[in-house]
Formats: sequence, C-alpha cells, structure tokens
Amino acid sequence: MARGAVNAAAEGSSAMRPFRQLDAGRLGAIDFVLTDIDDTLTTDGRLPSIAYEALERLSDAGIKVIPVTGRPAGWCDLIARLWPVDAVVGENGAFYFACEAGGGMTRVFAQSDEKRRADRQRLDGLAAAILAGVPGARISADQPFREADLAIDFAEDGPRLEDGAIDRIVACFEAAGAVAKVSSIHVNGWFGHYDKLAMTRRLFAERYGLGLDAENGRAIFVGDSPNDAPMFGFFDHSVGVANFADFCDVVATPPKWITSRAGGAGFAEVADAVLGALAFCSQAESPDVRINAENQKGFREG
Ligand SMILES: [Mg+2]
Repeated sequence: MARGAVNAAAEGSSAMRPFRQLDAGRLGAIDFVLTDIDDTLTTDGRLPSIAYEALERLSDAGIKVIPVTGRPAGWCDLIARLWPVDAVVGENGAFYFACEAGGGMTRVFAQSDEKRRADRQRLDGLAAAILAGVPGARISADQPFREADLAIDFAEDGPRLEDGAIDRIVACFEAAGAVAKVSSIHVNGWFGHYDKLAMTRRLFAERYGLGLDAENGRAIFVGDSPNDAPMFGFFDHSVGVANFADFCDVVATPPKWITSRAGGAGFAEVADAVLGALAFCSQAESPDVRINAENQKGFREG
C-alpha cells in the first residue's frame, strides 16, 4: 500500500465530518447515488436487506443508482439486469454496463477486445509470479468472471494476509508495469490508465449527456476502501461508511464525510438522509404548501 500517503491521509482524515452534519439543502439536490459494493453495501460479505431496500427506495424515488465496484463483469451483468440500478461500473473502471428499458444491455469497455486479450496473457504470467512470491496469496474466486483485470484475494476466502503481504502483491503488479488497487478483500491489477472515476466520467457523458465536473453537486458517492480514493477525492459529497476507519491511514484522499454505521447500514443511513431531503424539498415546492404558507403569512399580517 502507499505508505507515503500516510501523512496526507492523517491530515485529510481529520477533515472528515460526521455525515449527519451534511446540509439537507445540498442533499436535496442529489440526482445520482454512486456506491461501492463490498463492505459499503455489504456487511460481513453479505448484502443485507436494509441496503438492498435502500437501493430500491432511491430508485423508486427517481434517483439514478449506480454501483461503482471492483467486482467482475459476470457479477455486473447480473447486477445491471436484476438490481434496482440504472447502470454499473465494474472491475475498477474497466467498463460500464446498463440494461436498457426496451431490452438488451449496453456494454462499454475502456479498452478494446484485442488489448484485453493480449493483457490477459501477461496477467496470467503475473498471477503465477505473485502466487510463487507471496505465501498465502490466492487467485480470487470471481476471477473466471473477469474481462479485464487480475484479482488476488487477501481476505475474502481464507485467512486475511498481513499488510506486508498485501504491499508485496501491489509491488509485484507495479514492477510489471501494471496498476494495482487495494479493496477491502482483493488487490486488483491491470495494464492501462483507467479507474473508477474515469469510467464514471465516461458514463455520465455518454449515458446522461452530463459533464461530471459541472454536475458534481448532483451526485453523492459512498465507499469504504483505498480503491475508492479517486472517487473520494473528486466528489464534494463523498462519504465513507464507518468501517472506512480501517483504511484511513493509507488513503491519500479520504472521503469528506463519514457515516455513524458500518457497511450496509451505513449506506442505508445515506439513503435515508437523501430521501428525507428530497421529500422535504418537494413538499416545500408543492403548490398546496406554497398556498398554505401564503395564507398563513396573510393571516399573520392581517
Ligand atoms: Mg469496498
């Protein structure tokens, strides 16, 4: 992991504020909820009903929900088809998928089919070197469903490896010229310059016709770990769930806000606040409320 980032993280983490202090007026302007999956929507490796229901309530309210994850294409195909989401960014920004209302799936990749095929051979060689060089490291169980990257499991299936071993996995990727990102369970590596934020920018431009820089205030991002750092750094409304505390010493760009609860319950905390602000704003804008307010004003003035 990026130990050089420790000091910056320590300064940055002190700037994180309790999520409950985020202004309701700003939350009322949210049209897009972007969220990591592992240890952000999930708790102890499971998707609790409180988190799934939160996704559904957001979607039903007309908010576009977009998971932004390191999970593989195979999972993202299912998520785009079955979950109450508008699109999904997967494999740390290697692609976005979106299920279309009339049927069919939009699939957009950062790199061409040829490039991904060529990189797969290099990544297979790298996998062998990492397993030989870092005792206890294993290929992730979801690797067969990946299109673009190599995922080394250090915490999902089997005992959690020590930080030094995780650092050595990262070093192996980087020595081969690959990018390496650490989630709460895997080190993901790939060749090329993309990340969660770059593909999110492309999704916004292509699917919604929006420039993310100009629309920053209309989105909120929720995450938990180092591979979320580009999103934490960019979004004004970047939120870490409470278990982000496990990583706050190693993330150079921490979230601006932090929930009181961990995992899926932390995500539900964010959803509740966004929906509460939305309900308040739409009530304030309704004609009945305005007429009522004007009547009361007249009554008071009369
Ligand atoms: Mg995560």
